[in-house]
Amino acid sequence: MIIIVTGVSGSGKTTVGSLLSEKTHLPFFDADDFHPSSNVQKMSQGIPLTDHDRMPWLEHLGKNIVDWENSGGGILACSALKESYREMLQSIPNIIWVHLQGEKLLLEERLKQRKNHYMPPGLLTSQLETWEQPAYGLHLDISKSPEILCNEIIMHMKELNSPSHIGIIGMGVMGKSLALNMVDNGIPVAVFNRYVAGKEENIASDFVKENSNFPLLAGYDDLESFLDALGTPKKILLMIPAGEAVDLQIKQLLPKLKKGDILIDGGNSFYEDSNIRADALRKKGIHFIPMGVSGGEEGARKGPSIMPGGDEIAYELVAPYLSKIAAKDKKGSPCVTYVGPQGAGHFIKMVHNSIEYGEMQAIAETTHLMRYGLKLSPPEIAKVFRSWQGEGLKSYLLEITADIMEVKENNDFLIDKILDQAGQKGTGSWSLLTAIKFHVPYSPLAEAVSARQLSAQKLKRTELSRDYNHRFRAFSEDKVLILERLKNAYTLCRIINHETGFSLMKAASDQMQWHLNFSEIARIWTNGCIIRSTLMEELIEIFKQTDEILKDKSIIHKAKECRSDLSYIVGMGLQHDFALPVMSASINYLLGRIINHSSSNIIQAQRDYFGAHTYLRNDDPDNIPRHTDWISFKKTN
Ligand code: NAP
Repeated sequence: MIIIVTGVSGSGKTTVGSLLSEKTHLPFFDADDFHPSSNVQKMSQGIPLTDHDRMPWLEHLGKNIVDWENSGGGILACSALKESYREMLQSIPNIIWVHLQGEKLLLEERLKQRKNHYMPPGLLTSQLETWEQPAYGLHLDISKSPEILCNEIIMHMKELNSPSHIGIIGMGVMGKSLALNMVDNGIPVAVFNRYVAGKEENIASDFVKENSNFPLLAGYDDLESFLDALGTPKKILLMIPAGEAVDLQIKQLLPKLKKGDILIDGGNSFYEDSNIRADALRKKGIHFIPMGVSGGEEGARKGPSIMPGGDEIAYELVAPYLSKIAAKDKKGSPCVTYVGPQGAGHFIKMVHNSIEYGEMQAIAETTHLMRYGLKLSPPEIAKVFRSWQGEGLKSYLLEITADIMEVKENNDFLIDKILDQAGQKGTGSWSLLTAIKFHVPYSPLAEAVSARQLSAQKLKRTELSRDYNHRFRAFSEDKVLILERLKNAYTLCRIINHETGFSLMKAASDQMQWHLNFSEIARIWTNGCIIRSTLMEELIEIFKQTDEILKDKSIIHKAKECRSDLSYIVGMGLQHDFALPVMSASINYLLGRIINHSSSNIIQAQRDYFGAHTYLRNDDPDNIPRHTDWISFKKTN
């Protein structure tokens, strides 16, 4: 075992390294003792060393490290300020890196007190500028005592020697990023990917090789060794495609698992499948956590929003790990919470994605109106979106759309080169089917799914566009005024998108008795996930008062303020041949929710007329179903 303690002068490498040597009985080496005399002379004259000066010294140290490792290990104190220096020291795999860091003032203070040392304090500034902070290793704060620092290093060494805490199956985009996030956070992880001869070979071990600077990462290309590497109970996270792949993987794992082991499905599985799997696995004594993960590749790597459900006892066992890797909300709390039993985690993720569909479509419609109705250029649209960010409409999706508008390829905007055919996986359509099942009005978010389906019919659209001579017509109204109305229209549309999604969760929660905590769900969606926004932050407080967004006073106020603008924009957009499926469905949805006297009395009369389905009367307090013989009634009156 080789431990390298790095840091600038005065960080305490020698003190900590020597004390650690006493505690661990590993020999201590100070890299400074290995400098050739020419380097020592330069440093004592206050002349900074060049990389050229350092190369033979680092090479020599690298060779020594191999020898020390072969004779039982050792501790080396070495500044190793740059990544290229550390690479030269990495002459064996699995070096334990400890990086000592602290405030410049404290370092200066320590250097001032040094006697008989050839490193003048003046070199500290240049060292701090040279320091390239590594993402890996154990980072320690030097304001703590050497005793405490050594204890932390020993704890870290123990963790490294213990079995992997979590195993991840599926080294795709998400699995890889989550694995790196975990090891970055000090969690020993074993990874595995299926083996498909000639196609998918050594995926896990190659991934570990590519990331050799993460000693906590271990890769296995056969399932048995992967499972052997895990501590008890085994905690296995599946990051593979939803559907059959999950069932097959569980089937393959089951004979190798023991009662009490924990399976986490972190993919986008359909919640009904998760309900079935939860029941089946419970009967076999295996804990199951169906878990939504949002944030895409970047979120998974740096901090996703995590929505675990299922077995609550098992959740407690994995919560410390999930809390470490999750994004943090504004108050610093991790964006992870136990959401509810069975497949509740996947249900929540499905609705999250459905709101995401609605938000993306609403922004796309808004962008189109600006581009072809107001004739704004993409950078001008970006500017408008950025200004909206500062006016209460901040959101990740608006932010990335502004970025997208600014990307050029040679002299063209990249957005103009992208085919207008939107892809989709399962979650959007699943929420639509689920809304129908739970009798929840879902038109705004359903329209977002239909819009993608229509977009996929590119050839047919192109043909019909010619037949119908379709083209957008520009608006003649005042640009500034329309932009203001558009902002209000989008503000309300966004509220309605969220209202629709949360209504579905409420219906499911009531019917399934999941007791979902909407304020907490909004909280874990304020960071790490794709639909994070200022509105989501507002919803945390709103849901502490009511389960219905539309009943909140501030929302009522905002909706009243923006309603006529949404109607205006939809009306004007339609008249100018823009398709606005989500915007128009939102205003219809809102009106549908707030109209007291709806047109459904006509529907009831029609139903009773042709099918004797009966109807209730609004002047009958006893609600007795009535039937009218409409034909003879007409005749006799
Ligand atoms: P991906 O890049 O396509 O990777 C899928 C992984 O699953 C690959 O390692 C693949 O192995 C493995 N796999 C495929 N079929 C398998 C099978 N039958 N048995 C075992 N392993 C199999 O997918 P991803 O983007 O990482 O997504 C993983 C899961 O997370 C999916 O459920 C996805 O919906 C969900 N998710 C994705 C995102 C995102 O932004 N990408 C966000 C949240 C959730 P091979 O390399 O051998 O094919």
